[in-house]
Amino acid sequence: MTDFRTLSLADIASLASAILVKRGFSVEQAAAIADTVTAAERDGCLSHGLFRIPFYVAALKNARADPRAVPTLQVSDSSVVHVDAHGGFCPLALQVGVPALQEKARQHGIAALALHDTYNIAALWPEVEDLANAGLVAFAFTASNAYVAPAGGSRPVYGTNPMAFGFPRKGEQPLVFDQASSASARGEIQLHLREGKPLPAGWAIDRNGEPTTDPVTALEGAQLCFGGHKGASLALMVELLAGALIGDAFSMESSALDTHGVGAPFGGELVLAIDPSHCNRSTDHLARAEYLFREVLEQPGTRLPSQRRYTCRLRHQSDGVKVPMSLLSELSELENNSVGS
Ligand code: NDP
Repeated sequence: MTDFRTLSLADIASLASAILVKRGFSVEQAAAIADTVTAAERDGCLSHGLFRIPFYVAALKNARADPRAVPTLQVSDSSVVHVDAHGGFCPLALQVGVPALQEKARQHGIAALALHDTYNIAALWPEVEDLANAGLVAFAFTASNAYVAPAGGSRPVYGTNPMAFGFPRKGEQPLVFDQASSASARGEIQLHLREGKPLPAGWAIDRNGEPTTDPVTALEGAQLCFGGHKGASLALMVELLAGALIGDAFSMESSALDTHGVGAPFGGELVLAIDPSHCNRSTDHLARAEYLFREVLEQPGTRLPSQRRYTCRLRHQSDGVKVPMSLLSELSELENNSVGS
């Protein structure tokens, strides 16, 4: 049986921040990462919660990672704003860039935020949810490390390349989805390996491009996109948007920079925001959206993306979060070991 300790959200934020500061992160970088990690714990997205703290620390092995980086914002007359993260981590870069993106979207109707040279270990829903809470329609894209083969191929080229979308709602929390382009997270394959379980069919292929359900062979081979060639096209689109378009690394280039095999993706993120007041032709976009949502939810067995997170959020805000003791002891070791160990 797993032992847990219940922590409040404030406890989680202070724990995350204290560890990161102890490991050399600036107070600002640490606080921004701690916010993201706490939001993930709050919403029951455990793979991006406290579990990720060792991963943030391990990312510092990469020569380009700077735990004390100060992101710089570049705004011009254009509707595209840029943040150079200077090798720092995405959460602080987003804090610097998102307010400018909002302002540009209101001014131009549609605007983009390009984050450059950043380590992105996080989920993407926080940024699109924030923008949708401000009444904007939002999209976010980032490439990762090369784990996924193109449709019909056998060699990894794409990352697990997530994309997120947010749409505001009337009197409700925004509609948000955030999903990888791969059939499974890489961590899921590692978990199957640890538990000695075969993989579900359709997750991976071996080095020769043959389907495999063996986790070891899968990790040596390549992951597959969801939905065959259709998911592969989305993974390709993410590479082009967050890599080629804004001049940042493709997943295969991020992998080449990952000299210690940490797996922390390094590159860019593209966030788009649309102000609906510039778009609609006398119809109420929020009412129209609710009409659609009602049609979906009328059917038993359906739910909207993000409903699970919002339900979890309410519970965790009132009751706190049960964190496994094994993770807490790993974190305590990380906090108490000297830097460099
Ligand atoms: P999931 O498959 O768990 O969920 C994808 C989306 O589908 C979520 O928005 C989820 O909403 C929604 N959803 C799930 N089930 C249903 C349902 N029955 N009906 C309607 N909607 C549903 O996510 P992934 O495993 O693909 O990705 C997990 C996370 O990993 C993402 O946050 C992504 O950003 C992150 N990631 C980050 C990477 C990086 O390099 N930074 C790389 C790859 C992934 P809900 O949350 O409410 O369940």
